[in-house]
Amino acid sequence: EAKAAGRNALRLFSPQMQTQAAASVALERDLRGAIARNELHLHYQPIVDADRTMTGVEALVRWNHPRHGPVSPAEFIPLAEKSGLILQIGQWVMEQACEQIRLWGARPESRRLTVSVNISARQMRQPDFVGQVISVLSSSGANPFRLRFELTESMLFSDTEDVIEKMNDLKAMGVGFSLDDFGTGYSSLSYLKRLPLDQLKIDQSFIREALTHTSDATIAKAIVGLAHSLGMLVVAEGVETEAQHTFLAQSHCDSFQGYLYAPPCSAERITALLNTQGLDQVH
Ligand code: C2E
Ligand code: MG
Ligand code: MG
Ligand code: MG
Repeated sequence: EAKAAGRNALRLFSPQMQTQAAASVALERDLRGAIARNELHLHYQPIVDADRTMTGVEALVRWNHPRHGPVSPAEFIPLAEKSGLILQIGQWVMEQACEQIRLWGARPESRRLTVSVNISARQMRQPDFVGQVISVLSSSGANPFRLRFELTESMLFSDTEDVIEKMNDLKAMGVGFSLDDFGTGYSSLSYLKRLPLDQLKIDQSFIREALTHTSDATIAKAIVGLAHSLGMLVVAEGVETEAQHTFLAQSHCDSFQGYLYAPPCSAERITALLNTQGLDQVH
């Protein structure tokens, strides 16, 4: 029976899909060792408040493939999650981000900047995740109050109690939490109130059409109201136009992130921007 199902499943693959699958396998193979070969680096995208002062950044991993050039994390993070490589990559990202927090912490103009790090479900599920974070924090000398983790709704489906316990342990040390891509993950709203979250990030799909689809505008406003009534702040992701900014600011969003303010860029660029707070100069 399993064999029959297997045969049927195989028939679903077109030659084009087989080529894609082979490409994924090759990419996954190349990703193994990418850290050792120095092919990964972090970019940081500014997160600004309503008057466009940079208050934080989101760390976003970049892979410069030796033959294909830059590969999008939207492509290689899912492969890394599937293969388990995300554990090494996630650890490396955390080390880099904490080292950067320490460097920025040593300068008055960047002392208060928060650095958000995306965490995969598989990382969070490791029994010793909290211990790993503690050891990276202590070896880097980073201020835990400047570190923020971005979680997604999908990781809350199973082992919710375990996730909440780890969040509480980390929160007790000063680490903050955001729920990323909010509104896309079919989560039950009932556990929002039990999660020790500081922020909800409105998914960019709602922002994209906020001015053309009334329903998306309504959802964005509802998320702001929900978050505020639960004592959380709201970040709008993927803000690209002045009209979107105006709408979101009038809807009482607390923070904003998107190409309108600045694209993801190098740590050096962020440092230069902080010296002038001239976000207009990024483009
Ligand atoms: P995310 O965490 O939701 O990150 C936001 C994504 O939106 C980033 O894509 C960013 O470059 C992009 N973005 C920013 N502003 C705009 C805008 O105005 N318009 C549009 N259309 N897009 C904008 P990126 O860097 O390609 O990352 C994609 C996803 O890969 C991230 O989505 C996150 O889920 C994942 N990712 C990236 N870095 C890491 C990492 O270090 N660890 C893990 N686990 N996941 C990561
Ligand atoms: Mg994120
Ligand atoms: Mg997001
Ligand atoms: Mg996203």
